[in-house]
Amino acid sequence: MERRSFVKLGAVGLAASVVSPVFSREENFLETETSEYNRGAKMISTWSHGQPANQAGWKKLEAGGSSLDAVEEGARQTESDVTNRSVGIGGMPDREGHVTLDACIMDWESNCGSVGCLEGIAHPISVAKHIMQNTPHVMLVGAGAKQYALKHKFETIKTPLPEVKKEWEKWKKEQAEMVKKPEINHENHDTIGLLAIDNLGRISGACTTSGWAYKLPGRLGDSPIIGSGLFVDQEVGGAVATGLGESIIRIAGAHTVVELMRQGKSPEQACKETVQRLIRKHKDMTGLQCAFIAINTKGEVGGFSVYNGFNYALKTNDRDELIDTPFDRKW
Ligand code: ASP
Repeated sequence: MERRSFVKLGAVGLAASVVSPVFSREENFLETETSEYNRGAKMISTWSHGQPANQAGWKKLEAGGSSLDAVEEGARQTESDVTNRSVGIGGMPDREGHVTLDACIMDWESNCGSVGCLEGIAHPISVAKHIMQNTPHVMLVGAGAKQYALKHKFETIKTPLPEVKKEWEKWKKEQAEMVKKPEINHENHDTIGLLAIDNLGRISGACTTSGWAYKLPGRLGDSPIIGSGLFVDQEVGGAVATGLGESIIRIAGAHTVVELMRQGKSPEQACKETVQRLIRKHKDMTGLQCAFIAINTKGEVGGFSVYNGFNYALKTNDRDELIDTPFDRKW
């Protein structure tokens, strides 16, 4: 079974883990010439929508921006994509028809910011960053988050988009007729999570989503939760998650990946062990897709998913590709 958004890019998909030539911070520290500037830099992002996101983020790095600027810009790119049904403006609503957005961001100094259940704001990732940089708090949700965003003049949007509303109305009618539980499967969640290491070796990450389609109003998944959907520790590296948030929260997913890397595991091995732990904690894995990607301070990257069909986008100075991850089981 393949993802709705899965795009096959020829022979690209086979690499399970990509290891770059060893990144040397000292060597790159004083580089200024643009073409060389990003020699040690790298971006990885979940799913095929990660590719345009990486490209947008990369421009920031080329302009001398930090990994934080890069992941924010990448996330903003996906948040603006009207064709994306699980992030930003094109996102699917909750069961009452409200599109509520979750996002978080974290940098190499362990600064972090987060928003949850934010409605009508174009770029939750930038609100999360603003909270991180301008308040003593980490997380704002719901009405308070909206109030904050409006006060600071963040761009507003009208959601759901007309075509998304139509789909929701159809779903609602079907639900009423079938009196069935809202259907949740791998087809209706695919957050974008991004990780970047810049030329100074600084790691940042971001995560943004409209969450589980047709969720209960007020539901938060893993994506706005530091340690679940995203975690960065500059001593080790960073990780992001995608998939069923409830299961990722249960094992503090992204934090677990980072801690396994701290113990010496490669990014791919750390993601694999985290997926295996998640599987051990769930009796029924039917349709329960989750995946992690990670980067360490050497610039090594990797990922692992429960089921086949997950991929992530990699961008370096000379690479721009999608990579299928290894997985535990087949659909
Ligand atoms: N992890 C997100 C959530 O549960 C969904 C996703 O990955 O698309 O809200």
